Amino acid sequence: MTTTRFAPSPTGYIHVGNLRTALFNYMIARKQDGTFILRIDDTDPERSKETYVDAIKQDLEWLGLTWDRVERQSERLDLYAAAANELREKQRFYEAFETPTELDLKRKKQLNMGKPPVYDRAALALSEEDKASLRAERGQGVWRFLLDHARIEWTDGILGEISIDAASVSDPVLIRGDGQVLYTLASVVDDTDMGVTDVVRGSDHVTNTATQIQIMAALGHGHPNFAHHSLLTGPQGEALSKRLGTLALRDLRENGIQPMALLSLMARLGSSQPVELASSLDDLIAGFDLGTFGSAPTKFDENDLYPLTARHLQTLPFAAVADDIAALGVPADIAERFWEVMRANITTKHELAEWWALCRDGATPQIADEDRAFVVQAFEALPPLPYGPETWGTWTTAMKEATGRKGRALFMPLRLAVTGRKRGPEMADLMPLLQTAPKV
Ligand code: GLU
Repeated sequence: MTTTRFAPSPTGYIHVGNLRTALFNYMIARKQDGTFILRIDDTDPERSKETYVDAIKQDLEWLGLTWDRVERQSERLDLYAAAANELREKQRFYEAFETPTELDLKRKKQLNMGKPPVYDRAALALSEEDKASLRAERGQGVWRFLLDHARIEWTDGILGEISIDAASVSDPVLIRGDGQVLYTLASVVDDTDMGVTDVVRGSDHVTNTATQIQIMAALGHGHPNFAHHSLLTGPQGEALSKRLGTLALRDLRENGIQPMALLSLMARLGSSQPVELASSLDDLIAGFDLGTFGSAPTKFDENDLYPLTARHLQTLPFAAVADDIAALGVPADIAERFWEVMRANITTKHELAEWWALCRDGATPQIADEDRAFVVQAFEALPPLPYGPETWGTWTTAMKEATGRKGRALFMPLRLAVTGRKRGPEMADLMPLLQTAPKV
């Protein structure tokens, strides 16, 4: 059975880049009636925070990306210790004592000589006595996995045939000197133990994948299907990594982006399929095909989310927004009408508050000098509140007869004076919502 996982480290809020990973894995599982696991990669006790675990869940729930179960790596340390022992027994694990400064120096020397900066395995030559004295001097060493220097090959669900020379990769450190198990080992153990069949993650993980395939083999297991999606860039192709902090899902939510808009964009961006507003997650799942995604960096522009949000809002029935509208203080008897009139005129729900303030309190009128006398005359001719659906037509016809103005010269000064804006809903629809008579 298909099993996928989204495996965030709870060291920050999730952003659009993480969402891409989450969504792909979610859709693969759902498309096959499989299992989608939310795996919290919290082996780093200093950087992992409970508030981020909660925030990650909230963000996924906001999008409707439901998981079948949650797993936490911090509760599985015994399994990782057992795997480490197995690697020791199989002579695929060795202790190394270089300090970060020493490693850095080695790397610089290699680079100066035009060689790839691959760990030289000096620790393999240490005798038991050497190790004992190094341990006494420096504390426990780190544990490195001994790669088999062969080519590592797999068929990637997005990148196609991949072949990596293991000799060009450093033996990965799987356990730190302080005993902390690192992601690479924990992830391998979990993917095997949880029966994960498909792993999609960012292309920054390609080298990890190569080493993980060998670690899985060393532990006597095959590996899941791997696919690596391209990384997101900004609209001009610039690296997004620094800006991702501002593209957290919660920021987008606060900016008024609708879940369906975000899902519609992220489920198709970087694929050969067009981005269209979907009506449901099921729609997106039905059309999802990993094979349509390319390996080139994918341009992401937050601005693309606003038209999709606006279009989504236009599809919403009153019942879907009744609570939001009540929260603004719109009286129940005009709430539905308010939504019908406004929904085609907003980009995000935030704008409803502005429109309601305008209906309730009136706008700051915009009046050009040459129109002032006309507007004063027109406002004097307005009937008293409340206005009906016919008010605008009757009023403007009367003003046309009284002044000879017509077309834009008749309507625009009145719209600007009543709403303070050039654009907005049909005036005939807006007038009955006004709670305050317009004033100059
Ligand atoms: N915790 C890892 C990360 O966030 C998971 C990577 C993976 O999917 O294996 O990068």
